[in-house]
Amino acid sequence: MKYIPVLGMEVHAELKTKSKMFCACENGRGLEKEPNTHICPVCTGQPGTLPVPNRVAIEYVQKAGLALGCTLRLDSKFDRKNYFYPDLPKGYQISQFDKPLCENGSMTIDGKVFRITRIHLEEDTGKLSHGRGGTCVDLNRAGVPLLELVTEPDFSSGKEARLFCQKLRQIFRYLDISDADMEKGQMRCEVNISLFREGDERLSGTKVEIKNLNSFRSVERAADFEILRQTEILESGKQVVQETRGWDDAAGRTVSQRAKESAHDYRYFPEPDIPKLIFSKEETERLRKSLPELPDSKEARFLEEFGLSLSDISSLVSERDVADYFERVASELLEKRSSGETSVDPKRLLKLAANYFLTERKRYVADRGGDMRSVPVSAENYAEFVTIVAEGKVNSSAAQRLLSEMMKGGDSDPSHIVDRLQLSQMSDEGALEEIVRLVLLDNEKSVTDYRNGKQNALQYLVGQTMKASKGRANPETARTFLLRFLEGSDSREATQ
Ligand SMILES: [Zn+2]
Repeated sequence: MKYIPVLGMEVHAELKTKSKMFCACENGRGLEKEPNTHICPVCTGQPGTLPVPNRVAIEYVQKAGLALGCTLRLDSKFDRKNYFYPDLPKGYQISQFDKPLCENGSMTIDGKVFRITRIHLEEDTGKLSHGRGGTCVDLNRAGVPLLELVTEPDFSSGKEARLFCQKLRQIFRYLDISDADMEKGQMRCEVNISLFREGDERLSGTKVEIKNLNSFRSVERAADFEILRQTEILESGKQVVQETRGWDDAAGRTVSQRAKESAHDYRYFPEPDIPKLIFSKEETERLRKSLPELPDSKEARFLEEFGLSLSDISSLVSERDVADYFERVASELLEKRSSGETSVDPKRLLKLAANYFLTERKRYVADRGGDMRSVPVSAENYAEFVTIVAEGKVNSSAAQRLLSEMMKGGDSDPSHIVDRLQLSQMSDEGALEEIVRLVLLDNEKSVTDYRNGKQNALQYLVGQTMKASKGRANPETARTFLLRFLEGSDSREATQ
């Protein structure tokens, strides 16, 4: 018997608005150091207070909807979702039930379409911390605007679920509506999983929901673990229990948390203190036009315009700031080429720019922390660097040194650094020839070794020449000169 896994996703993301969802408190997304510093009578649920919806938060959710191909409802409303928990001071959460802001969207990953049922807006809850003296409530996060996205059960593996979450984060960051950092709880993914017997797909499987997933990796691992766990239960003839399970990352398994409550337990009803939301087509069109270029279309355009490999392009567009930076570098380079400032083939310029960008910048970020945005080199200076390298004004080891010098900050004009550190490649062949002669005189043993057939000796002599030229020689030219002396008629003269 074969079982087919069917997965659906539910994703929450904290929106990075200035103020909270229904009051004027600063939105610190619950990351404040001191508890209960950004609170007021509204977000602590005092009697007699009235909520006022945050217009920017509504627009953020609509932007997400537009970016994900949803239809924006022209009429929408807020509802109360009633339940008791100490981190929810009002005894209900203001959410959206039957008229969410956005409906019927989709996301395509590697050619497969994942349908998005709805995206709605709600408020986050506070946080509880359980200490020795009891449990404390911090309401800084209460009332933070929260986007909730629900998908159709279109996923069939943990990997698909992970890729979906990763692309979602990328889109939220491009839209600049949420940092969507899973480790900080700014994006929370839940996966629901049920298994169907092959050829028997009308039978509904029992749905298990997994919560507490705080990294992309755990989304994939937890989903795959759960598929395996349920398969084993069904294969042994037992039944899967409908429940919510948590993920124990250290143990690498899901653990039972509680039996699943069904939707009507929440006794949703329309929020009486907030009027209905009515939007016009013009408003939604205006919003559509305000969207930035999104990762998929940026990727397609970069492929077309820059002619780089797909893997280079997808790394370059992974973050909007990085993509924007690279695009400025590329336009500087193409400008240098069209103005005749350089005669290097533009494809070669762009390829060099991408290579150094993706290796050296990544190394810089890995060594020092921070992100790609923190590298203190302007697009102009970076483009100048690429041109210097492409024109052979510095050799490759000097190029590395030049770039790391530029990344130290301060004066990062590469031509100044080339002068200051004397990095420019020796173009004076006479001078190089002189150095080679001296190197051969100083290394008679290596010369003999080479003549006795030891090929390694040549590499050593190239190294000595590079050292004697303080790294400024072109290694290829040095090698040619050395060979000329070692094998040609000049050799005796040089060693005598
Ligand atoms: Zn407040």
